[in-house]
Amino acid sequence: MSLTPESRHDLLIIGAGISGLSMARYATGAGLDTLILEQARQAGGCLDSHRFRGALDGFWLELGAHSAFNSYGKLLEMLETAQSLDRLQLRAKVGFRIFADGAVRRISSQLTFSELLLAPFRWLKLKKTGCSVADYFKRIVGQRNYTAVFEPAFNAVICQPAGSFPADGLFRSRPRRKDIPRSFTLAGGLQTIAGILADGLPARFDQTVRDIRRTDDGFIVTAADGGKYHSRSLCLATPVADAARLLQPAFPELAAALAQIQTATVESVGVAVPKAQLKLPLVAGLIGRNEAFYSAVSRDTVPDPVWRGFTFHFRPGVLDESGKLDCIAQTLGLPRQELTNVVSKTNQLPALRVGHDEWARNLDRILAGTQLALTGNYFTGVAIEDCICRSRVEWERLQRGCG
Ligand SMILES: Cc1cc2nc3c(=O)[nH]c(=O)nc-3n(C[C@H](O)[C@H](O)[C@H](O)COP(=O)(O)OP(=O)(O)OC[C@H]3O[C@@H](n4cnc5c(N)ncnc54)[C@H](O)[C@@H]3O)c2cc1C
Repeated sequence: MSLTPESRHDLLIIGAGISGLSMARYATGAGLDTLILEQARQAGGCLDSHRFRGALDGFWLELGAHSAFNSYGKLLEMLETAQSLDRLQLRAKVGFRIFADGAVRRISSQLTFSELLLAPFRWLKLKKTGCSVADYFKRIVGQRNYTAVFEPAFNAVICQPAGSFPADGLFRSRPRRKDIPRSFTLAGGLQTIAGILADGLPARFDQTVRDIRRTDDGFIVTAADGGKYHSRSLCLATPVADAARLLQPAFPELAAALAQIQTATVESVGVAVPKAQLKLPLVAGLIGRNEAFYSAVSRDTVPDPVWRGFTFHFRPGVLDESGKLDCIAQTLGLPRQELTNVVSKTNQLPALRVGHDEWARNLDRILAGTQLALTGNYFTGVAIEDCICRSRVEWERLQRGCG
């Protein structure tokens, strides 16, 4: 499709991460003339599987999301519609270990089992609603277990200090599809999902949106290169801080509400090393306890005959690039000069807090009656499936307005 510098659409979507792609799939499925504008060169956002070239051709590692589950019903529905369920790959069953006090340790060796005896009863009795992760889990597993294992493990899951996160936003219970492996990826990594969903969708890459204005019959969106896009409906599928900034001129009330959500930065560094050089047993990942990194996610879940890969997710602002490589070398037990295949990425995730449900309800009240949709990982939770569920809810609202 050739686009003039000024083009007109039913729906414009800003952002081609899983939130924007899922919104676009719903809209194009219903026949809407839709266009995605994405600042990067490719679709994916936090679905970012780095694919090496040269000597490591064919080897990839995840710089963002690494696991999808058979409880991600809406994601699976989309892959099924795209006839791609046969591309799912089972992840090998290897366990996590803790890296603490300078050594790799088994998780069980760090647990105080006497504190866990009553945990199942406490778990049945306690309600998550209104509790932070720290309040809820400390009461279930005990203070010592929480500090030694659970807190670092939860930090690793959401790549940020998890204690103040709402307990009900961390793990959401959803029905599982028994015909799908419990935890899966795809050949080439989870970014392959973005490729599948983006296939055939009208999208313009390398298009950073700079400005959004309201018009009598919709919206006008201006990109950094001066391109102008008109639409009846508009969906922002960017990280929350970008949405707040973009909406400030035209929707100051919404922008102020969005600015209340704090953002956690994750500095990720991925390394690929020859298998033969490592003594570390096969692991799904290492959980850092009192370390500069929250976790080191491993590629051992999709074993490669020659290479192993690890992505270290660092706390922001603690180590510079050189310090991060020293830390990685020390953790993996390698001389620093062996780290030659290195890639890095900085991601932003929302730092949700208790009371977030009320915040989200208020935001939806402000959005009601508008043809503006907001989707992303800052509504019910940060998981891929949470993003798609939000897109679905917003798509249904827009559709009622389009009728
Ligand atoms: C390190 C890490 C590990 C994770 N692990 C998992 C996991 O294992 N399982 C899981 O379910 N979830 C995981 N998550 C969470 C999940 O990956 C994300 O919450 C989800 O992918 C976010 O999708 P999104 O589309 O809302 O946002 P993003 O993926 O951030 O996409 C937003 C897009 O908007 C674009 N954009 C921003 N501003 C503009 C602009 N002005 N103009 C044009 N485009 C713009 C960006 O370039 C980006 O492509 C992880 C996240 C991270 C960071």
